[in-house]
Amino acid sequence: MPEYAVERRDRESIRELQADRLRETVARAYENVPFYREALDEAGVSPDDIDSVEDVRELPMTTKEDFRDEYPDGLFAVDDEEVRRIHASSGTTGKPKIVGYTDGDLDVWSEVVARSLSASGVEPGDTVQNAYGYGLFTGGLGLHYGIEELGATVIPIGGGQTQRQVEILQDLGSDVISCTPSYALYIAETAEGMGIDPTDLDLSTVIFGAEPCTEPMRREIEERLGVTGIDIYGLSEIIGPGVSNECHEAQDGLHIWEDHFLPEVVDPATGEPVEEGEEGELVLTTLTKEAVPVLRYRTGDLTTLDYEECECSRTMVRMDNVTGRADDLLIVRGVNLYPSEIESVVLEFDDVAPYYRIDLDREDELDTMKLSVELAEDFDGDRGETREEILTRLENVLSFTPDELRLAEPGELARTEVGKVKRVFDNR
Ligand SMILES: [Zn+2]
Repeated sequence: MPEYAVERRDRESIRELQADRLRETVARAYENVPFYREALDEAGVSPDDIDSVEDVRELPMTTKEDFRDEYPDGLFAVDDEEVRRIHASSGTTGKPKIVGYTDGDLDVWSEVVARSLSASGVEPGDTVQNAYGYGLFTGGLGLHYGIEELGATVIPIGGGQTQRQVEILQDLGSDVISCTPSYALYIAETAEGMGIDPTDLDLSTVIFGAEPCTEPMRREIEERLGVTGIDIYGLSEIIGPGVSNECHEAQDGLHIWEDHFLPEVVDPATGEPVEEGEEGELVLTTLTKEAVPVLRYRTGDLTTLDYEECECSRTMVRMDNVTGRADDLLIVRGVNLYPSEIESVVLEFDDVAPYYRIDLDREDELDTMKLSVELAEDFDGDRGETREEILTRLENVLSFTPDELRLAEPGELARTEVGKVKRVFDNR
């Protein structure tokens, strides 16, 4: 298995490397991106002021709105001829966020994904079925080149064609599949429907990302498919997948590849740094990006950072698995709730399948929430009792119960074969 020496460097030398790279990044942004020159001038910071990693706090922040305002390429720091590839993130509203990559950026991206795969336990020679969508979305091609970089075999199947996915898992004996967590479950369900026991497949690892995944959801994936489930994290604005990854040794937080990405955690309301170990919004600064250097990007993802050395001996900081986005926060009749909190409660029940949806409406100026959860295939209990148990548990854990709890029949709730699953329908 390839060893990436930088992953185990002592913290002090990582900090020094970061400080040097931060200074270079600020200089690149200042000299080549009018948006940053203006913001840095306004903040009264010049690239020469950067002496240590802590100085990152003096820098202006970047938001997703900035990407939209600078659409399409206002944040690019290189000439068109140097851009080797373009990707975009699918915005649900407005224009997509466009990002570009130089040759150097593509090399870095392949390396951080290869590192992520290696941390996941993937070895050269393994076969990886890449079920992320190809195209403008960074998931497909991002994983693809990292798999090749590691020296593994890639099956570039992309998303969808679920029966075909199962046939290929079986016929080519794929060791690893990369996809969203909800799609991993759908593949398990499809295999069962085809009369194939998914635990009999050669598959040993699922690398899942692009959607939040709670612990109960991970356990469900691991049990249904007989695999180790590993979380990968990334976002197009920073590079794509491969910003951080869990190690298979500990499965306890995602190591951020700090030689390329500098993390901070801030209070989502004020933007001020939180105390070490406290939860807040993840903010990332790129340290080596050439085409689109990004200073202090507000990811919207809620996490904590853990600088304790990991049992895998990697020294790079770990972020907690992201189950909530600041954007996902639901405020229902003044109560703050994350969909992931509801997921964690309902998936505790063996009688419930890992499919649910939340419908929010407003009736007579009042918010209402309808929660639909799907019954497990082999459900043979009492519906009334199951309903009551779920409602009691929600009340005990979240101090909240939906106005309506509906038990859906097995297979009734929509499955997502391509792209990210949608579970919350806010009609207010
Ligand atoms: Zn580790």
